[in-house]
Amino acid sequence: MGEPHISVRGLSHSYESNGQPLAALESVDLKVERGEFVSVVGPSGGGKTTLLRCIGGLIEPYAGEVAVGGMPPEEARRRRAIGCVFQDPSLLPWRTVLGNVALPLEIGGGRANPQRLRETLEAVGMLNFGGYYPHQLSGGMAQRTAFARALAMDADALLMDEPLGALDEITRAEVRLYLLSLWERTRSTVVMVTHSVPEAVLTSDRVVVLSSRPGRVVGVVIVDLPRPRERSLEDSPEFLACSSEVRAMLLAGSGVAL
Ligand code: ADP
Repeated sequence: MGEPHISVRGLSHSYESNGQPLAALESVDLKVERGEFVSVVGPSGGGKTTLLRCIGGLIEPYAGEVAVGGMPPEEARRRRAIGCVFQDPSLLPWRTVLGNVALPLEIGGGRANPQRLRETLEAVGMLNFGGYYPHQLSGGMAQRTAFARALAMDADALLMDEPLGALDEITRAEVRLYLLSLWERTRSTVVMVTHSVPEAVLTSDRVVVLSSRPGRVVGVVIVDLPRPRERSLEDSPEFLACSSEVRAMLLAGSGVAL
């Protein structure tokens, strides 16, 4: 077996808070194979974002080893081998949908291939809205544009931090299905932080459960459900069993006694 696409070994990170060290992550190990979809769930403040930012090359220094495609994360980021999607779509208001999706390519000094941009917009159901400005979009459309922007970079590792967290329940369910069908097509390697257990189970090959701060890996649940996955799967006994397993680990790791 080759090297995993993303490899995290003994990762610990502390912030400084009021002059005191604040341990956010402690000895986290994680391996993500190429083309795997892994979700990270855990209590608020347990270090999920910190983990994602270390993998994304946005936090230095840390203790331990992190590699993305065999490179240190900072280098992988510089080479545009990592795409990020955050809760806030962060679109530039003076650029159209198309202009926003093309932006990272232009910043990189490259030229956006019009055909590729069209395909990317089509994949997120935004082909007819390329000329719209962000203020003309619903929350769901804005977030779909943010997905398209990350995809257009052709990065083979996608890091997503609560990408659906700002959406209302109905839009969230709809955009979740877009995300799933997108991934079924691209099969990029994904690490997604989410608060939603059903979202994690529906999308992922594996769900990694972190404890409360400092975040440690409490356990990993393998989601052995057939793909392509559809919403109806959420009512199946297998899905419910997987979700309860994740919830039980979450409770164990958060120190909540029931
Ligand atoms: P999560 O994503 O699981 O909610 P975070 O990784 O955002 O957790 O944060 C982990 C802990 O580190 C929290 O207690 C948070 O308050 C703290 N923290 C996060 N960022 C900083 C920072 N820049 N400076 C100081 N403390 C921080």
